[in-house]
This record gives sequence, structure tokens and C-alpha cells, in this order.
Amino acid sequence: MTVREIIKLPDKRLRLVSEPVKRIDASLRKLVEDMFETLYAAPGIGLAGIQVGVAKRVIIMDLSKKDDTRKPEVFVNPEITWASEEKSSYEEGCLSIPEYYEEVERPAVVKVKYLDLEGKAREVEASGLLATCLQHEIDHLNGILFIDHISKLKRDRITKKFAKAAKTAKSTKKVEA
Ligand code: ZN
Repeated sequence: MTVREIIKLPDKRLRLVSEPVKRIDASLRKLVEDMFETLYAAPGIGLAGIQVGVAKRVIIMDLSKKDDTRKPEVFVNPEITWASEEKSSYEEGCLSIPEYYEEVERPAVVKVKYLDLEGKAREVEASGLLATCLQHEIDHLNGILFIDHISKLKRDRITKKFAKAAKTAKSTKKVEA
């Protein structure tokens, strides 16, 4: 297993719409293994393929508490089939937008259909943290980031901050070369 690099804002790939997985094969399983390695190393609770630069519709999650037994979950080609009118809000963060957290309001309950790693069709009715995490990760597959759900003012501020940081990192590299 390999820890892959997590791409960060303002990387344009975060805005790509990921392609459906056509075949669950060894290369997809390897990707999923690497994604878990990357997730646990970060550490984080959820990761979408595109966050390691692979534009495939696959997301992984582990919502187990620290020190508890790990509970890895994989969702291939996940699709929200129903969302409640009732909303709930969580303070969200994203491994692609490190150290930034903001309250996001989303449907409190969602139904999601997906394939498991054996290619079996499944459906889950999710609420609480799982519902939020699924929606956050499925957003990634559609090129949407959690900051798209906050005010424009806040979004612009954080986007500028990351653009500036990336620029500084680049020019530093140039000096070193
Ligand atoms: Zn994210």
C-alpha cells in the first residue's frame, strides 16, 4: 500500500466530474487500498478518488472513533436517490482544503445506492455524520467542494488564501532550483 499525494485547492482537478467505474478489478482494488493508507495517514474520515488525482467515481470512508476498531467503507459509483427536506448542519473540513472548517447545512437523511468492492449493488439510508460525509464525498465526484455551500464572501476569502499559498510555494521552489 502506498500513501498517495492529496491534491489541494487551487488544483483544477478538484473541479473535474469523475467518470463512472466500469470494472471492479485489481487496479481499482489497489487504488482503494492506497486511498485508505492515505486517509489513515492524513488522518481524515473520508476521501474521494479525485483527491488523489484519480477521476473515478469511488469514495472511501472510516467513521470509527480514534482507538476504536477501524471500519473501512467503500462506495463505488455512489448516487443519491433520495434526500430529506429536513436539514442538519455540521462543521465540515476537507483534506484538499487543510485546516479550514465551516458549518455546512445539508439534507439530514439521504438514500445512496452504490456498488461494493465485490460489485454487488447496495443501498444505504444514512443520517448523522454518515449522511454528511457521503454528500461531501459524492460532491467531490461532481467537482463540488464544501466551500461551494458557504457564503461567497467566505468562499472567495479562502480561495484567495490558498491561491496565494500555492503561488508562494511555487516561487520558493524556483529559488531553490
Ligand atoms: Zn473533501
